[in-house]
Amino acid sequence: MSGKQITMKLYNNFIRTFSDLPNHTTLLVHSLSGCPLHCYGCLNYDEIIANTPKDYKTTEDLYDYLIKSGYLFDAVMFSGGEFLINPFNEIRELLQNAKEIFAGKIIVTTSGIYFRKVRALYDENLVDGIHIDMKLPYHILDVKEDAKIYQDIMGITPNKKLVEELIASVDAVIEHNTLFDQVRTVKYPLLDEAFFQEIEHFIEKRKVYHQSIVPYFLNEFVIPNN
Ligand code: SF4
Repeated sequence: MSGKQITMKLYNNFIRTFSDLPNHTTLLVHSLSGCPLHCYGCLNYDEIIANTPKDYKTTEDLYDYLIKSGYLFDAVMFSGGEFLINPFNEIRELLQNAKEIFAGKIIVTTSGIYFRKVRALYDENLVDGIHIDMKLPYHILDVKEDAKIYQDIMGITPNKKLVEELIASVDAVIEHNTLFDQVRTVKYPLLDEAFFQEIEHFIEKRKVYHQSIVPYFLNEFVIPNN
C-alpha cells in the first residue's frame, strides 16, 4: 500500500447493505466531498452534502476497517454525494489501496457528470463496476427549451457539453458490460411516464449496440424524511 496520506473525508458510518449489488453484501462508503447537483428529493443532501458532519472517518480508518471486518461483506461501494468530485489522484490511490486489502468487488456510484473520470476508472482497472443514474432522457431534451426540467430534477443549468458527458458516461457503463455495472433511474413524481419510457428505450438500444448485459432498474421515488 502506498504510504502517501490522502485527505478525503468519509461519512462516519460505514453501512452494510443487502440490496445495492444483487447477490452481494455490500459495504457502503460515502465520501463527504459534496455534489455538483441538487436533485429533487435527494436523500443524502441534508446529512451528507449541505451540512458536512463534524465527525468523519479518514481513508486510513477505512483501510483498518477493511483489514479487520472485510470478511463480513463481498463488495465495497464508494458513493457520495458525488464520489467522483474528488481529485482523481485521491480516487485512484483510495481504490488501489482498497483493492490491495480487500478481495471483494469494488463499485463506484456516480451521476455521470465527470465522464473522463468514469472512463479512467475503467481504463485503469480501478473498479469492477459502476452504478450510474440516468435521471432524464438526456438524448431528447433541448438544453435551452428544457432547461427547467434539468433545473427541477437535477438542480443544474445544462449546457451541450455537460449533456454529452452525461450520455457518454451512461454509454461507457453499458459498454463495460458486467453484472457489477448498473444503470438506474429514480421514478421522479414530477415526470410523466413518457420520460421513463424514453430513458428505457435509449438504454435498450445502447445495450443492443454493445451486446451488453448491464442491468437497468427503474426505482421508486423515496420521500425524504424532512
Ligand atoms: S447526484 Fe445523487 S447525491 Fe448528488 S444531489 Fe443528486 S441524488 Fe443527491
